[in-house]
Order: sequence, then C-alpha cells, then structure tokens
Amino acid sequence: MSKVLVSKLNEDIPQQMARIFDEFAPTLAGKKVLIKPNILCPTPPEEGNTTHPDVVRAAVRECKARGAADIKVGDCPGGLEGNSRKVARLSGILEACEGYFYPIARRLTNVPVTSRWVDSFYIPEALLEADFVLNLAHLKVTVQTTVTGAIKNCYGYQPGGLKAQGHFKALGKRRFSDMLLTLFSVRPPDLTILEGIYIMDTLGPRGGRVRPWGGLLASNDPVALDATAIRLMGQDPAGEYTLTAAVERGLGTLAQEEIQVIGHLDPIPDFRMPEKGGFYATAEAGKLLQQMGELKPVVYREKCSPCQECTYCPVGAIQVNGYPVIDEEKCISCFACADFCPTEAIQAPPGEFERLMKQIFQM
Ligand code: SF4
Ligand code: SF4
Repeated sequence: MSKVLVSKLNEDIPQQMARIFDEFAPTLAGKKVLIKPNILCPTPPEEGNTTHPDVVRAAVRECKARGAADIKVGDCPGGLEGNSRKVARLSGILEACEGYFYPIARRLTNVPVTSRWVDSFYIPEALLEADFVLNLAHLKVTVQTTVTGAIKNCYGYQPGGLKAQGHFKALGKRRFSDMLLTLFSVRPPDLTILEGIYIMDTLGPRGGRVRPWGGLLASNDPVALDATAIRLMGQDPAGEYTLTAAVERGLGTLAQEEIQVIGHLDPIPDFRMPEKGGFYATAEAGKLLQQMGELKPVVYREKCSPCQECTYCPVGAIQVNGYPVIDEEKCISCFACADFCPTEAIQAPPGEFERLMKQIFQM
C-alpha cells in the first residue's frame, strides 16, 4: 500500500515539512542530500512556474535540523535564459537555499540507457552521489504529461540544450513519456513533495492561468502522488500514458485502492486542462526544437574571470588558455557551461533561444 499525504499548505510550512519528514523520510544524520526544486525560469513565485521559495527554505532547514552532512539544492532551468544561479535568484529560490544552492549541471556523467529514443543521458553527479533525493515539484499542468509532478519534475536533471534535444528526439506525448521514464528511472527520488501555493492550469509548463490554491501532496511513491494530483484536477489518472507506463515499469501504483490517502483535500475548483498543446508532436515544432538543440554557446571574453570552471564540460570541448575556446566539433550543445559559468561569460547566441521559443508557443 502506498501512502500519499494530502493537505492544505498553510502558514505553518516548517511544521508541515517536519510532519512530512517524520512520515516519509529516513534518518538523514551524516547523509548527502540533493533537493531538486523546479527552477524552470526566471520568474517570481506568484507567476506559478517554479517551486515556491518558502517550501524550499523549509526543506533545507529540515534537512539541516536532521543532521544531513551535505546538502545541495539545484535544478537545470528549462531554457537558455541565463545561468541557473541567476534563474534561481530571480525566482526567489537562491535566497531560500540559505547557502546550499549548487548548479547541478556542473559535473555531468554519461550514463548508458536502453531506450528507443536515446542511448545515454548526461546525469548530474550530485544526483548519483546523493543518499537522499528530495524532489520538490510544483503543481501545474504540462501538455506532455498532464501534471508536472514527481515524474516530470525530474526532466530538470538535463541542462537546457539537452532538454530541447530530448523533446526533438522523442517528439510526441508517448515517446516523450517513455524517454522521461527512462531518465527518471536512472535515479528515482526518495521523496516527492508537490507544492501548490499557486497553481497553473490551461497551458503549461509555462504561460497558463495562475491562481492561489494552497494545497500540498507528499509521497515516496511518485506514481501514486501524480495519480492523486490528477484526481484533484478532476481527471482519471488511468488515462495518462506516463502513469500507466510508469506502473508497467514497476515505479509505483495508480490504483486508488492501493493508495492510502493521509488527510483530505477537496478537488481543485474549476480546474481547466490545456486546450492546445499538440505542438510538441508536430513536425514544425520538431524542426524548431532541432534548431534549438543545435545552437552553440557564445563566449563573452570580457565577462570571463577566468575561473576554469568550464573545464567541467562533459565532453572536454572547452580549453581555457587565458579565456575559454570552444571546439564546436566536439560540443554537444548541452549548454551545461552556460548553466554553471558563474559570470555568464558563456551564453546562448543572442536572441536565438527566445526567437525559437516564441515560434513554438505560437503554434
Ligand atoms: S567562461 Fe565562465 S566558467 Fe569558463 S573560465 Fe570564464 S568565467 Fe569561468
Ligand atoms: S562547450 Fe558544448 S558540450 Fe561543453 S558544456 Fe558547453 S555546450 Fe556543453
């Protein structure tokens, strides 16, 4: 029997966090913890795109109070809009990390997988090294997997360029879900908290309608958690391919009779599912995503410290001789360097990412 905590997220967020840890977390004393919020884009929490900073702060403090030896908080933002520290700062999450923010794209390891769509993933070493992974997802719809809950939040393990490439290689909802589940299975989180202080419906993971709601879900079973969220949205989780495929892979259960719900929450009133969003499955979108996935980073020498951090390029495409030089033949367009460069000396070609995103979302 899987357990899902469902409750109102009131002002006592630290108390609720302690209750969740009592219920679902193992002993953390001496452990390495990775906290993975949703830091999709550089917008404040009331725009409903990212995990609310109050929840991040409460999680960090709870891990600290329970004696975690090492805490890292990080995510790879969705696009190519700046390094992850900047995106975390503008979304209020950097401050909430209380010194534990870590750009997880900084060290990536190539992990071979068996999938029709990809041969391997570049996975953050911080994820593979963690004893306890706390997935801090944010409740909103997404056109590909219905809810950006426990499973979809883990697409954030991929730096921005690889996200675009993944969308292109596995174009369409089912293919994307299969690829996502393969990525998720590399290292499933130990606990997911799905926060809904503000929620987004009608379109997502960005650009939909945002309303305050104030609900919270938590579980060790990612499938049960996402299924419960979808029920709160007024939908049947059995119709969501990502979840039925996740059950087949043994990642959890979506059957209501196998889920013990702790607490109670009324269904979200007037929840509206996306009306459009087939764009991720169209050939036109595929071409734009392919273009996005082939962009090469640009180096701004005047901004470079030079700190040598970019020697963490996962394929060794950067040489730092006074300033960094990128070997475009070797470069796999992952944009990890742009994500972790502390001075934003490496960026996407000016205006290109924005232009492509605009065209995709106009479809
Ligand atoms: S480009 Fe960024 S990461 Fe690389 S050496 Fe310069 S400042 Fe450091
Ligand atoms: S140089 Fe290319 S391959 Fe290396 S980190 Fe940057 S984008 Fe990725």
